[in-house]
Amino acid sequence: MLEQKRVLATSIPGPKSQALQQRKTAAVSAGVGTGLPVYVEQASGGILRDVDGNQLIDFGSGIAVTTVGNGNPRVVEAVQKQIADFTHTCFMVTPYEEYVLVAEALAELTPGDHEKRSALFNSGSEAVENAVKVARHFTGRQAVVAFDHAYHGRTNLTMALTAKSMPYKHRFGPFASEVYRVPMAYPYRWPTGPEACAEEAFETFTSMVHAQVGESNTAAVILEPIQGEGGFIVPAPGFVKMVADWCRDNEILFIADEVQSGFCRTGDWFASEHEGVVPDLVTTAKGIAGGMPLAALTGRADVMDAIHTGGLGGTYGGNPVACAAALASIETMKADDLCGRAREVEALFRPRLEALASKHGVIGDIRGRGAMLAIELVSDLERKTPDADLAGRVNKACHERGLVTLTCGTFGNVFRFLPPLSSSDELLSEGLDVLEEAFAASV
Ligand code: PMP
Repeated sequence: MLEQKRVLATSIPGPKSQALQQRKTAAVSAGVGTGLPVYVEQASGGILRDVDGNQLIDFGSGIAVTTVGNGNPRVVEAVQKQIADFTHTCFMVTPYEEYVLVAEALAELTPGDHEKRSALFNSGSEAVENAVKVARHFTGRQAVVAFDHAYHGRTNLTMALTAKSMPYKHRFGPFASEVYRVPMAYPYRWPTGPEACAEEAFETFTSMVHAQVGESNTAAVILEPIQGEGGFIVPAPGFVKMVADWCRDNEILFIADEVQSGFCRTGDWFASEHEGVVPDLVTTAKGIAGGMPLAALTGRADVMDAIHTGGLGGTYGGNPVACAAALASIETMKADDLCGRAREVEALFRPRLEALASKHGVIGDIRGRGAMLAIELVSDLERKTPDADLAGRVNKACHERGLVTLTCGTFGNVFRFLPPLSSSDELLSEGLDVLEEAFAASV
């Protein structure tokens, strides 16, 4: 276990990381970017140690994955035990209990007390792809409706569902067909202001689907209950519920993509709960398995069981080691009340972010829930002009000072916070001190 302390041993990135980055450039496709090219040697809890001996505070959790902390002791122990027992059989050939236990846990934890079934996969994109497959098969309809600012992955179908062109879709077309896009109820940027945002966005949504797609052609509506890569956009209150209710009225399946927002991140097990919504299908990944690759599609038993045997699966989906990690992660979330911890993290961050906003007139919006928080940077508070340059400068200034931060957003101007939920108040406060310094140096 590394001491939970920031250490600056060299400039960042240090010489060994720089040498590795040169080798990376010569060996790894340029298409695979590295946001902060320090090469990690060891990590635990909320600290990453690089090859130069720097210890960085983690405000990213490897994009919302290490919710239980890096190298969580329960996860490490479960993984080691499972690896010693067996590493793979392929669940579709000779099954094992760990997969069933994860599916049982998902049935218990995802919103709604109806009967559910799950299927396990390797990545969020794969879970989303399968959600669409299942929805089309069950309804016999083809169209899928997604939202502005949505991010659902990088495979062909999920690229089609993802909104942003650069870098995700640029010159990667043609994209999968029968995907339609509608506006998101984005309170900060809604043309008439936040007050009527939910109602107006819902009006636009229903009229667009009616006119351009047709309810009876629509298999599913897919929505992130807090949008992730698109900018940590919290839909206007009531919007998600209106959409989900309307879907039910029209026999359209409502898919909640909880890949980023799930597993305690927002202060609930799933962000849908806060909206009072019970999705027909839920996709999960990231935080589910403490860093091991695992994803899931969980849904109504009648929907999931409509698929013919052999219609869903994959060689590695629900790998036993990843399942063991998931069971240990879920146990930790329960034992350590990480949903409660996410709410504490919000209580710690919000006043600091508000103080930052009043000091520098560049923060147009502070938003998010639990430990999924963000600030939107603008060059003009009145006109809300996105300031991606400033976001980039602050990000770099944080990195140089040993704080791992991430940006996001359709306009690249959102600064997001996703710390591990195992991090202490002291460590998080120190990270926020670094953020303040980075702002002072960059604005
Ligand atoms: N859906 C959402 C909401 C996501 O945030 C992501 C990943 N950022 C994905 C899907 C795709 O997940 P993966 O990268 O594991 O394929």
